[in-house]
Amino acid sequence: MILFKCINALQKYLNQQKNSRLSVGFVPTMGALHQGHLSLIGMSKAKCDFTVCSIFVNPTQFNNSNDFEQYPISLENDIRLLEQAQCNILFLPSANEIYPNGTALSTHYQLGFIETILEGKFRPNHFQGVCQVVHKLLDIVAPDMLFLGQKDYQQCMVIQQLIALTGIKTQLIIGPTLRESSGLAMSSRNMRLSDDDKQKATTIYQMLQYIKQQCNHQMPNELTASVTKQLLKNGFNTVDYVAICNANNLEPITETDNSTIPKVVLIAAFLNGVRLIDNLLLNNTE
Ligand code: AMP
Repeated sequence: MILFKCINALQKYLNQQKNSRLSVGFVPTMGALHQGHLSLIGMSKAKCDFTVCSIFVNPTQFNNSNDFEQYPISLENDIRLLEQAQCNILFLPSANEIYPNGTALSTHYQLGFIETILEGKFRPNHFQGVCQVVHKLLDIVAPDMLFLGQKDYQQCMVIQQLIALTGIKTQLIIGPTLRESSGLAMSSRNMRLSDDDKQKATTIYQMLQYIKQQCNHQMPNELTASVTKQLLKNGFNTVDYVAICNANNLEPITETDNSTIPKVVLIAAFLNGVRLIDNLLLNNTE
């Protein structure tokens, strides 16, 4: 694996690969890598000739400075995991390399409704920051395919919109959420949980499954209210949302509905200061 810290050197190298007609897959991350990230590297390696992973903890997508400062960093381990996964390139830029003119949000991305709900509502400007960094990274790497995880369901929809808005010629591929055997979705933030909290955190997956079983029998608002109560009872301190939505546009589902509209349930909740998110498609067999 070759490590690049500078945009110019990376682009020079990638251009050589592209001139040899090699396809490039890209997996952007914020590091503290786990099997979820590595599954995306594996997908990229299966579909593309060349795989680039980036590690950059993007300051502009954090609406909470504590969360940014406490974001886990494990660079040596990350490099070891990427080498084992036979990733071809690690792009590891500094904040100055990505934002030479400062981190102010200079472009406003017209994301519309999708930015006003769920993560967008509870993390103001989060998706503007995500678009700012992903737009820059896509301009730098210019990959044929971009690999993102379903774990960040709303983010995938935002990036699909970013690609449409900018006309960038990259295909978005979404990989499934990798979970611990307990059902807990793998996440870099899990590193900040004690063993006891990891056990409590499994309630999120249990509640996603419960909603999946019950969604055709109970009113969505009753179901989400009882699940919110259960999360609080099982040790969560704050529940930002439990939402049952149309999986295509994230419009809320308000009626018990046996129709074939694809649905997704999404949860965000805090456990001892760590914010966890997860989701489950309701019409799938996952
Ligand atoms: P992050 O480093 O958290 O910004 O995540 C980088 C990429 O990995 C994003 O596309 C995430 O959706 C994806 N990802 C994070 N956790 C998982 C997981 N448990 N399974 C699959 N993909 C994941």
